[in-house]
Amino acid sequence: MSFTSFNLKPAILQAIQDAGFTAPSPIQAQTIPAILQGKDVMACAQTGTGKTAAFVLPCLQRVVSGPSARQGHGPRVLVLTPTRELAQQCMDNLKLFGKHLSVRSGVVIGGVGYGPQYQLLSRPLDILVATPGRLIDHMNERRVDFSRVEVLVLDEADRMLDMGFLKPVEKIIAALPSRPQILLFSATFSPEVEKVASRTLQNPHRAQLAAAKQDHSAITQHVFHVDNTDHKQNMLSHLLKQNDVDQVIIFSATKHGADRLAKKLQQQGFSTGALHGDMKQNQRKRTLDSLHAGRLKVLVATDVAARGLDVKNLSHVINYDLPNLAEDYTHRIGRTGRGGAVGVAISLVSPPDLPLLRDIEKRLGKPFTFSKIEGLESSFTEADFRRIVSAEAPPGRPKQRGQRPARSQGNHGGNSGGGQGQHQGGRTHGNSHGGGGNRSFGGRPRRSFSR
Ligand code: AMP
Repeated sequence: MSFTSFNLKPAILQAIQDAGFTAPSPIQAQTIPAILQGKDVMACAQTGTGKTAAFVLPCLQRVVSGPSARQGHGPRVLVLTPTRELAQQCMDNLKLFGKHLSVRSGVVIGGVGYGPQYQLLSRPLDILVATPGRLIDHMNERRVDFSRVEVLVLDEADRMLDMGFLKPVEKIIAALPSRPQILLFSATFSPEVEKVASRTLQNPHRAQLAAAKQDHSAITQHVFHVDNTDHKQNMLSHLLKQNDVDQVIIFSATKHGADRLAKKLQQQGFSTGALHGDMKQNQRKRTLDSLHAGRLKVLVATDVAARGLDVKNLSHVINYDLPNLAEDYTHRIGRTGRGGAVGVAISLVSPPDLPLLRDIEKRLGKPFTFSKIEGLESSFTEADFRRIVSAEAPPGRPKQRGQRPARSQGNHGGNSGGGQGQHQGGRTHGNSHGGGGNRSFGGRPRRSFSR
C-alpha cells in the first residue's frame, strides 16, 4: 500500500514525502481510509506505531477539503491527549504534515501561562490540541468555542483514564453542541477503555494489529537485568565489543533517544548511524546504504523506521528499550536470524520494564530466564525483578549499583532466582529462548540452523 491510495491532497502527500515516509505503517493503513470516510474509529495503537500521523493526516485532509458548515471561529478538530509531551508531539506532526497548507492549529496545555492561550482561542482555529485539565479551565471561563467541532480525537485513551481524566473528557464531550466523528486511539483495549468506547463511539471501525506468528528457532534470545541508564550503557558497550557481533540494530523507543544513543556510541568509537522518522529521505538512504555496505556496524532505530529492513549480516538485535507492544518484539528480533543464518536478540530490562517483559513472555508462551555478565551484574536478582511486579511488593529500586533492595536481603546468594544464567570468566551462559546450542556471552549459537 502507498500513501497515494488514500487520495490525500497533493500538498499533504508532498509533506509525507518530505518527511521521508515511503509507506503507511500498518495502523495508518488500517485507520486512514475509515477516518476519511467519516467513521468513528477505535484503534489499538501505541507510541512508535505511527498512530499520530494516522489521525493527523486525515484530519488535515478534512480541514482543507472544504469550509466548515457551521458558524463560529473555534476548532473543527479537537485532539485530547493525556500529557503535554504528547500534545506537543501531535502539534509537531501537524506542523510537519501541514507545512504546505494554511491550517491554523494550536495547543492548550497546563504548566504554561494562560495569556497566549487566551489569544489563541480568541482567533479562528482549525485544529486544537489540548490536555483535558487546561481545556476545562478555558471552558469554565467560557473562552472556548466548540460550535464547529467536527472531529474529536482521544489520543492514548487508556492513559487518559489511568490519569483520572475520565470525568474531564466526559465533560468536554458533553459540552460539544453536536456529535462529532470520534477517533479513539489506545495502547490497550482494556475493559475500562471498552466501556468508554461503548458509551461514546457509534458503530466504530476497529483497528488492531494482527498478531504475527513467526518462527524464531534460529534466534537465541537473552534478557539482561539493568539497574539504570548508566548500567544499561555500560552493558551495551560491553556487548558491542564482543567478537561475534557483526552488525547490530539497537531499538530505541524515541527518535531523540535514538539520536542521543547513536551519538554516544559514535563517541565510543563504534561506527553508528541513527534511523528514525524525523530524518530526511536522503539522510535515511545514506545511512541504510552505509549499513548494507558494511561501513556501519551499529544502527540505532525506532520501530517504525526499521520496519521492513532486511540486512544480510545482521548478527544481533538489541532492545535498548523494550517495545511497548509485545508483537513488536517479534518483529524486532525477526530482523536477525534470516535466510538460514543464526542470530541473537538481547533485551536490556530495568525494573519499570517488567510489565512489558511480562507481555512479551505471555505472547511467546514461556518465561525468559535471565543472563548475566561477570562484573556487570544487576543489583537485582531475578527473584527481585519478579517480585517487583507482583502484587505483594510495590516497585522499588536500589539507590546505587551494588546495593540491593531491602526486601531482597537474604535472597541473593547465587543463582537462586529460578533459572538464572550462569556466568563464568566474563562469559555468560543463560537464557535460551529459541536457538539452543552452545553460546558465548551474547549467546550466538555456534551451530548453524537451516530453515
Ligand atoms: P508515533 O507512533 O506517532 O509516535 O510515531 C512514531 C514514529 O514513527 C515517529 O517518529 C513518526 O515520525 C514515525 N512515522 C510515522 N509514520 C511513519 C511512516 N509511515 N513511515 C516511517 N515513519 C513513520
